[in-house]
Amino acid sequence: MTVSTPARFERDVDRANRLGSLWMVSGHRTMGRRKVAVMGSAVIASCTCGLEKEFMIGGGMMDFTTVCHFPCLCESCNDIVDANLLSKEPRCSECNSPAVIPYDDPKLSSGNGVHEVAFWNTKADLGRKLVLTDADYKCPKCRQMTLCFSDAHICWD
Ligand SMILES: [Zn+2]
Ligand SMILES: [Zn+2]
Repeated sequence: MTVSTPARFERDVDRANRLGSLWMVSGHRTMGRRKVAVMGSAVIASCTCGLEKEFMIGGGMMDFTTVCHFPCLCESCNDIVDANLLSKEPRCSECNSPAVIPYDDPKLSSGNGVHEVAFWNTKADLGRKLVLTDADYKCPKCRQMTLCFSDAHICWD
């Protein structure tokens, strides 16, 4: 985890903007009196049927240009799994199947989200920002639109 003093922090943001870097784009949080650059965050997927799993979103300080963790529906596991969406062919991290659908796909969501729960700015690489909202999502276990994502309040890098 990176902790910057405000002056250093502003300078770093400036530099990141100049370089067009994705660095720090996932946002920052205030921890005590310090601003902390958040490289990745985590969400909890939970459903009324009992499914509950935690997922990382984004990439780390060293690998964020090549790695973007994001929850996906794996059609071969019938489960929510982690996949690296910046790899040439994203695959399920559990069974290695390429049949994965990222959870920002409109067909996995009721589209009624109001607030963003987590996002990762992959516009330069994927042409879209990856976003999870507080909408209802499709649960791979009970197949109902009763899955939701919530912030796990974990920062990591
Ligand atoms: Zn799988
Ligand atoms: Zn369910």
